[in-house]
Amino acid sequence: MKLYMQVLIALGLGLKRNWHIFLGLVLGVIAGIFLHQYPHPVVMMAFTFIGQLFIRLIQMVVIPLVISAIVIGITSIGDSKQLGKLGTKMVFYYAIITVVAVIIGAVLALVFKPGLGAAAYINSDVATGIQAQVATTIEAQKGNLLNIILGFIPKNPLASITSGDMVPIIVFAVIFSVALARVGEINRPFVSFFESVFAATMKITDWIMCFAAPGVFALTAVAVSAFGIDIFMSISKYLGVLALGFGIQLFVVYPVFLKIFSKVPVWMLYAAIAEAMMVAFGTASSSATLPLTIACCEKRGISHKVTSFVIPLGATLNMDGTALLQVVAVIFLAQAYGVALTPFIIVQIAFLAIIASSTSAGIPGAGLITIALVLNGMGLSPEQLIAGFAFLFAIERITDMMRTLVNVTSDAVVAAAIADNENEINYDLLNNPNDYNDVIN
Ligand code: ASP
Repeated sequence: MKLYMQVLIALGLGLKRNWHIFLGLVLGVIAGIFLHQYPHPVVMMAFTFIGQLFIRLIQMVVIPLVISAIVIGITSIGDSKQLGKLGTKMVFYYAIITVVAVIIGAVLALVFKPGLGAAAYINSDVATGIQAQVATTIEAQKGNLLNIILGFIPKNPLASITSGDMVPIIVFAVIFSVALARVGEINRPFVSFFESVFAATMKITDWIMCFAAPGVFALTAVAVSAFGIDIFMSISKYLGVLALGFGIQLFVVYPVFLKIFSKVPVWMLYAAIAEAMMVAFGTASSSATLPLTIACCEKRGISHKVTSFVIPLGATLNMDGTALLQVVAVIFLAQAYGVALTPFIIVQIAFLAIIASSTSAGIPGAGLITIALVLNGMGLSPEQLIAGFAFLFAIERITDMMRTLVNVTSDAVVAAAIADNENEINYDLLNNPNDYNDVIN
């Protein structure tokens, strides 16, 4: 066989799936830049189709997976005291990470001032094409916090399941599982049923992941083709500040967090969850990535007890990347329109971003709807708001891809830290990249 054929076969078959997906990502960026220059409707249609096919396949398993994971996780913890301890620790860890994210966002935006002089390229002309989204966002601004909290409690759990509302589904699953744990042995048939559901959904996830490389390639190509690289030139400062903030979260905050609260080696953890990180980037959805985040963590030694409880909740409530973006975006708009930023307003922005981000669903674009809450009371005129949203929407997808990667990584970081604290991590597996657990056992 010719040498180049051997190399090609080795590239195709020998490499790990991580690298296939990474290759998909890089080629997707190149194809997207090319498509922006030379648009081709048929190619675009084909790429959109492949990307959507991949997303729908993973979304298909999310609800059965979340419910079964929570049922098994909570009933296996059993004793409500331990559950309370785990829950409190989880909220504490997620809170630390999100508070640090908003501080970093605020400091970077105030130091680099990406919004100064930006009003020139924020104009309401762009707003015409995206009226629907702008209207939704303005509408969301009217919803107050109490209504948002009420919405977390499902009036009808089955209706929440059919409409895919993750937070009410999780709230119901958690309450139901705690009750199941309390009723004792009689819960066995029900729990066994969900053990089978979990095993089957994990198996399906494994099959779907064979399709991850082309899926991520297509999604990235379509996303990049929408704006090409010229957009990066005009708003490079804004994107630069965001990328720097996300980079600090990934390469400084999480490693320091893991050092302080656990003995988890951060690089081993990142290697373990690399597939989930790339799929998060490609799909811009924490919920869609959830099956994979759980699979990656469990394969490399983090116990099911911890992942099944901490990761689904994290994928829905822990959105530190989104919070960071919301702070930077709002300060950016304030700077662009010359709104005076007093220390009080900055603290208010940071505080509202923490709440708004955690009410964002783990789906593409959610963070740009809830940002309305943060913009409340900033004193921007309706025209400025519309033009501001239009600007943020125009570059939404790329910033969504970045923040989702951060959101998903922090879910796994917190799960790993808790697993370490509770002695629920198998370090032999985590430290040995060539070895892994079968999740279904
Ligand atoms: N797309 C993000 C996620 O799924 C949420 C957001 O829009 O910020 O994590």
